Amino acid sequence: MLHGVSRTLRDPYEVLGVQRDASSDTLKAAYRQKALQYHPDRNPGDREAEERFKEVSEAYAILRDPDARARYDRYGAQQPATYRHDTSNVDWRDVFRDADIHVDWGGRGGVPQTGNAVFDMLFGMMSGVLRQAGMVAGRTYEVQLGLSLGAMHGGTEATITVPGPSVCQTCKGTGRADASKVGGRSPGPFEATSTPQSATVVCPDCGGRRMRRAGARLSVRVPAGAGLGSKLRLAGAGEPGNPPGDVLVQVGWAQPQGASASGLDVVGRLTLTPIEAARGADAEFDGVNLTVPRGSRAGDTVVVRGMGLIGQGVSGDLRLTLETAWLEGAARAAGRWLRKLTQGGERR
Ligand SMILES: [Zn+2]
Repeated sequence: MLHGVSRTLRDPYEVLGVQRDASSDTLKAAYRQKALQYHPDRNPGDREAEERFKEVSEAYAILRDPDARARYDRYGAQQPATYRHDTSNVDWRDVFRDADIHVDWGGRGGVPQTGNAVFDMLFGMMSGVLRQAGMVAGRTYEVQLGLSLGAMHGGTEATITVPGPSVCQTCKGTGRADASKVGGRSPGPFEATSTPQSATVVCPDCGGRRMRRAGARLSVRVPAGAGLGSKLRLAGAGEPGNPPGDVLVQVGWAQPQGASASGLDVVGRLTLTPIEAARGADAEFDGVNLTVPRGSRAGDTVVVRGMGLIGQGVSGDLRLTLETAWLEGAARAAGRWLRKLTQGGERR
């Protein structure tokens, strides 16, 4: 249930800056322009702008409705200072829709609270709409990225999912892609990035909409030595807006089962066959390659210095307790063989 706003109003024609015989198109254009100008997102904390926004919205609510407009022309114009217009029956959704403002009724965060239910709702709807229309700054999203120890130390190429609507990174928000690049080739350092002859096509990833819905997947280059809490900024890859927001990728450890952290040290178990332990073996734990020395036995601890978690410029150690078991040890060795055969390398 929407609550109405009833208060003394300035001349709505004057508020919108239009003539008394203004057509509905003229009214609509005038309202849209002023609503954008006074929107709280563009005037944060400015009570005056907020009041003006309410005022232009009310003025338009009256003049777009032929009955309300006729009533105002008849009574209000004579005594504007005392004319009170009851907006309790106004459907604000219609007001917005009518001014070509498409509204996402799902609700969004970061909405200014004025204490007035009607306008709080209008502001909430407007902010999402205006961002998508490129009228206000887009928000920056924070994304958590869990890495293996090996990836933290050696760097990796990871994929993240952007949680909200985002600027299409294939076309950088232009909606058009260079036909020659759609195949995936980027220009070399000495090639022109565009030539007058180069054909453009509708961006295949966003269909020309310049943005992606929530859930766009982006590739992130994580440098070697990225510690816990490191933040990687993908400039301009966040929420559409002017300027667009960024995506901040926060690095963490994707703790594998059976491993735990003690400060920056990582503690875990490594299972070998009894023969491997006795002969010594190459092994891998959470992406870290290590060598178990000859003559090792169950219960021994293998310490890999500096290969634990990475903090602010310091690394902990990786401390593994050896276990021996025929079956599990053989399965681990077989899995490692298979990975080598199929990928020719290690998992990240
Ligand atoms: Zn695109």
